[in-house]
Amino acid sequence: MNIENKKQWTTTEDNQLIDSFGRHITYVRISVTDRCDFRCVYCMSEDMTFLPKKDVLSLEELERLCSAFIKHGVKKLRITGGEPLVRRGIMTLFNSMTPHLQSGALHELTLTTNGSQLHRYADDLVKAGVKRINISLDTLHEDTFRKITRWGRLPQVLDGIKAAQDAGLKIKINTVAQKGVNDHEVPDLIAWAHSQGMALTLIETMPLGSTTGDITDVYLPLTEMRAQLEKRWTLVDSNDRTNGPARYVDIKETGGRLGFITPLTHNFCDTCNRVRVTSTGTLYMCLGQENCIDLRSPLRASEKDDLIHDAITRAIMDKPQKHDFKIDPEKRIPAVSRNMSVTGG
Ligand code: SAM
Ligand code: SF4
Repeated sequence: MNIENKKQWTTTEDNQLIDSFGRHITYVRISVTDRCDFRCVYCMSEDMTFLPKKDVLSLEELERLCSAFIKHGVKKLRITGGEPLVRRGIMTLFNSMTPHLQSGALHELTLTTNGSQLHRYADDLVKAGVKRINISLDTLHEDTFRKITRWGRLPQVLDGIKAAQDAGLKIKINTVAQKGVNDHEVPDLIAWAHSQGMALTLIETMPLGSTTGDITDVYLPLTEMRAQLEKRWTLVDSNDRTNGPARYVDIKETGGRLGFITPLTHNFCDTCNRVRVTSTGTLYMCLGQENCIDLRSPLRASEKDDLIHDAITRAIMDKPQKHDFKIDPEKRIPAVSRNMSVTGG
């Protein structure tokens, strides 16, 4: 495609995002802030330094960027962070995406949240067109919750989950399985979620960024967890695929769905359909690689969107074939230096 000639931006067959391995990019996860009201041990250090506000995209810039991706055929947007719902005025962004949902250009608008602000926003999210959300929750015990999140309060999150249920949102709970921290509790969490009609997905800890918690110590391969769960329940493999690192089973006894996210394996890279954007407008083509391109400069350089479209088109061709995560038990250093709160989960 001749990028230089693409100045009139409407969604057409030839401005769909297809990378050099033939993968169609239709899913963008965008972090709207690196800030958070929690300090989860596997995600941030307690004295985390946050980005200067001037470096973070304004809500208007975020809207322009999301709309640009939609013009390129992106069908699913996940708003994440940091904690997306602590960003002041965040509903402006959700509401600005509603027309794209109504026109059918965007198929799904969703978010990943720690649940702390859902009591305030659940109804507004539904009004904006959000139907499903992911809520992160690793334990149902207040003391373990405090140990993991450092600053979080479990009752507030449970209230948030209740508000989301009452508002009619479909909920998936995301649980980071951590050896010696919450692994013994995982069956109870699954039973609890399924009893309330919520799916639950287990996540392996990932070696990202600098945290004061030691991720290698708590790393628990989900193959081990699955073997344990199989002693208790009948797990039936599901054919559902997300083009991401999640694999699903249905549990016969609970009637609910359980996912396993194993990002350290490579078995999903072939069908990867997603890219990630940080709150400063850096587009990362892969969670586990450093390839990136700055979208903030083209956004700020011109009120027109031509420069952003050109940058996105060029960037996608640079999407790596697969990620490169490693946990090095000797050196205990992460393979990728940026924290999850920067790239977004
Ligand atoms: N604050 C929101 C939340 O917690 O859901 C959204 C952002 S958070 C970075 C997104 C997801 O990443 C959460 O489910 C969190 O548990 C997960 N996460 C953060 N750091 C991780 C790590 N090192 N390994 C695995 N999952 C991680
Ligand atoms: Fe905040 Fe989510 Fe990171 Fe926990 S995982 S510190 S809630 S961004």
